[in-house]
Amino acid sequence: MGSFAIIGAGISGLACGNALAAAGHQVSLFDKGRGPGGRMSTRRVDTPFGQASFDHGAQFFTERDADFQRTISALETQGAVGLWQGEFVRFDSKGKQHALGDEPRYVGTPGMNGVVRGLAAGLNTTWGMRVSGLSGRKGAWQVHGESGENLGLFDQVVCAVPAEQVSDLLAPHTPAIAVKAKAVRSLPCWAGLFAFEKPLKIDWDMARFDAHPVLDVTSAGLNQPGRTGPASYVVHGHADWSIAHLEEGADQIAALLLKELAKIAGPLPTPLVLSAHRWRYARVETSHGPGYLYDKDQGIGACGDWLAGPRVESAWVSGHHLGQALLG
Ligand SMILES: Cc1cc2nc3c(=O)[nH]c(=O)nc-3n(C[C@H](O)[C@H](O)[C@H](O)COP(=O)(O)OP(=O)(O)OC[C@H]3O[C@@H](n4cnc5c(N)ncnc54)[C@H](O)[C@@H]3O)c2cc1C
Repeated sequence: MGSFAIIGAGISGLACGNALAAAGHQVSLFDKGRGPGGRMSTRRVDTPFGQASFDHGAQFFTERDADFQRTISALETQGAVGLWQGEFVRFDSKGKQHALGDEPRYVGTPGMNGVVRGLAAGLNTTWGMRVSGLSGRKGAWQVHGESGENLGLFDQVVCAVPAEQVSDLLAPHTPAIAVKAKAVRSLPCWAGLFAFEKPLKIDWDMARFDAHPVLDVTSAGLNQPGRTGPASYVVHGHADWSIAHLEEGADQIAALLLKELAKIAGPLPTPLVLSAHRWRYARVETSHGPGYLYDKDQGIGACGDWLAGPRVESAWVSGHHLGQALLG
């Protein structure tokens, strides 16, 4: 039986951890987030009309890979995932509305982070722990927390964090992986979070905007499985717009995105929640392939969407395949 430290308990790190734990290995995960989510986070805000919840990262996910389908079915049985039966549309560059394909779209329940919470159940995960580095060698890797914590001694280490954060952790130990991560660029995304006492007058649940100067995707939480509370909306700014406004304040961004929401939904009532979240590294512009990286001599692997594609499912597949490779 081997021991593995996994840095990052997003969906890719957890997929890897589950593959290793299922084969009887000792797995310890460390995540800097206060709770489960990563880029599948859910933010909850109290209002006089109940708690509003916002999936401000990933909006939905697909299941095309057979192993991922099995995992999602198990999570569905546990109540951690549900099918989102909504109206999905796209607005073309002339503002004309088209139906989007009817491939099944899933969400976590009661919020998107339900998926990550479900995958973390039964694994030894420490939340609120930022890993600052490693020392040692294969068979005896020491993992260090940012406040000097000694997080234990492990045979091998998996790095499951966004590409931009890989290099600082791995460059001294496996330059080949660090160099590949450095070559990847992730695009930012500003997310506007709005809640109203009553639903807005729009006839779709999720809209994608092609060639819009500001908007990328807008979603309504109303018809998602397991959602309660006031009508909540998440408005994602387009990558170019988010880059142009990256260093502006969240209040200013929230006001700008609210104006865009009013252009598509008509005059708005006063929002119960008016907020914005900046994702500095939202989605990889070009994923690196080949799914995962493993430096066998050093006993260090890397997985995540930057190696497989900018989607929830791709991130899970990356972690799962790295887990299989470590077992092999
Ligand atoms: C705004 C937005 C919209 C999106 N929309 C969709 C969508 O609709 N459909 C879809 O399929 N995908 C979507 N995605 C992409 C999808 O969310 C990601 O591809 C996927 O969640 C990535 O998973 P991951 O495990 O690779 O990374 P992450 O989820 O980022 O997990 C990495 C984890 O590492 C932790 N971490 C980082 N550094 C450290 C450290 N030093 N020490 C400890 N922990 C650390 C972080 O806290 C995080 O939890 C979207 C993403 C964003 C941001």
